[in-house]
Amino acid sequence: MKRACGQFRERLIAVAFGSADEEAEAHARSCPDCSRHLAEIQDVRRAATVLTLDAPADLIVAAKAIAAGARAPSPCKRISSTLAAAGVRAGDAAAFQELIEAGGERLRVEYRREESGWSVMLRLPTEGWEVFALDSVCEPDADGYVTFTSPDLPGTAFVILSPDGAHSVGPPGGGSSDN
Ligand SMILES: [Zn+2]
Repeated sequence: MKRACGQFRERLIAVAFGSADEEAEAHARSCPDCSRHLAEIQDVRRAATVLTLDAPADLIVAAKAIAAGARAPSPCKRISSTLAAAGVRAGDAAAFQELIEAGGERLRVEYRREESGWSVMLRLPTEGWEVFALDSVCEPDADGYVTFTSPDLPGTAFVILSPDGAHSVGPPGGGSSDN
């Protein structure tokens, strides 16, 4: 039966996309390899359908992160911080800014203490960039500004998706949990 598998593999793609092919379907039922192959194609097809129709934002981000290199986001380079200039720790400041580098662009990130926590604001350079923070996509406004508020400083970590891949921006102060 092994030789038969080859002839059915392409036909199973058509089956996964809705074609009727009794012979190929019967083979898939009797062959664990082809059955698994068919299930995989169906998974891909479902994912593709979801993505093109009404994909939840987090699924789009996940898919883009995978497309961007199938690896974890690379850490952003922090170029400068107004904290260092003022000589205060992030948790003691009312507001500060950091300059970071992501995807070949320099972005200014503003952190501001508010009643409900820390608000983070940055401006995305062009369309096609996205920010993923607090487990969801933050929609930029018409001018490209993204704002989100985390209850604490560690929660201000976020990921920038740029055309050249995903970049993580850890909480200010190198991840220490001073709040
Ligand atoms: Zn087979």
